Amino acid sequence: MDYSKEQGRPRLVSIVAPFFNESEGVELYFAHITAVVDTIAGLTFEFVCVDDGSRDDTLTRLLAAAQREPRIRVLELSRNFGKEAALTAGIDHARGDAVVPIDADLQDPPELIPALIEKWLAGAEVVVARRADRRADSWIKRKTAEWFYRLHNELSDVKIPQNVGDFRLMDRCVVEVLKKLPERQRFMKGLFAWVGFRTVEIEYTRKPRAAGESKFSGWKLWNFALEGITSFSIAPLKIWTYVGLVGALLSFAYGSWIVLYTLVRGVAVPGYAWMIVTVLFMGSLQLLSVGVLGEYIGRIYLETKQRPRYVVRAVHEADIQT
Ligand code: UDP
Ligand code: MG
Repeated sequence: MDYSKEQGRPRLVSIVAPFFNESEGVELYFAHITAVVDTIAGLTFEFVCVDDGSRDDTLTRLLAAAQREPRIRVLELSRNFGKEAALTAGIDHARGDAVVPIDADLQDPPELIPALIEKWLAGAEVVVARRADRRADSWIKRKTAEWFYRLHNELSDVKIPQNVGDFRLMDRCVVEVLKKLPERQRFMKGLFAWVGFRTVEIEYTRKPRAAGESKFSGWKLWNFALEGITSFSIAPLKIWTYVGLVGALLSFAYGSWIVLYTLVRGVAVPGYAWMIVTVLFMGSLQLLSVGVLGEYIGRIYLETKQRPRYVVRAVHEADIQT
């Protein structure tokens, strides 16, 4: 049986990449990606490129590339919506029987695409690429990433596999489920894990960026981590019930002791340090728990507005040849 054909036509694979200020990387990206896919026989490809409101000439370069290469489709967002939204836009517009999200900076090696496709043709619905070696990332980034995965998976029922990024291959059936998920706040790693399906893993070594620099600062990553945890776990909300319970029990025990002590030994005045420490401690615990509530309520608020996740200014593509 020829797996590469469906309903008589060759199967289409969409390679989806978000671009944000990747001016120096555009030509490099296409040079690499076309070199790789041209070695794959029996399938057709489209390159969906999302310009996530770049402020340099990324868009101009993407459009110039699309002039030369009809398989390139450029999706122009109206402003910078962030990587998660840009990726969602790309996946929504992809037409392939399989969709491969990939970073535009070539940190996810395109050379792996044939291996992803091979597993897909052999029957996998999702093929994920695990970073076996992250030496290209700084020590602090590796460590914080590790802690994040540990904490997230401890708190949430949906386990995100360690060191698996957005780089993967998804069959059309998986993509359709992803598209139906209604949430606006999209933590893609978590959503990918949530949908499930028959998954196969392959390993690769993460490379340094081909050109330009990372768009994710420490603060952005922190917020990203918060987003991940609050999207998939309500443990931070529930913990306060238990903290409160333990606090109440301790207070009750200590209170009883004071009453007994006073009954037996008369009025006790000392204890100022104890009092002030307790008051400050309880006060900060309360602020902390209100802050956690705020995180969740903020997210409920954002969800209820039902705003679109991204706005497309234009889709640039060659006339569809039939
Ligand atoms: N990106 C994007 N919108 C943003 C930030 C990043 O589309 O607001 C894209 C970026 O162009 C790249 C990918 O997301 O293709 C990954 O970004 P980056 O390499 O900066 O992240 P890192 O690899 O450092 O985690
Ligand atoms: Mg990168």
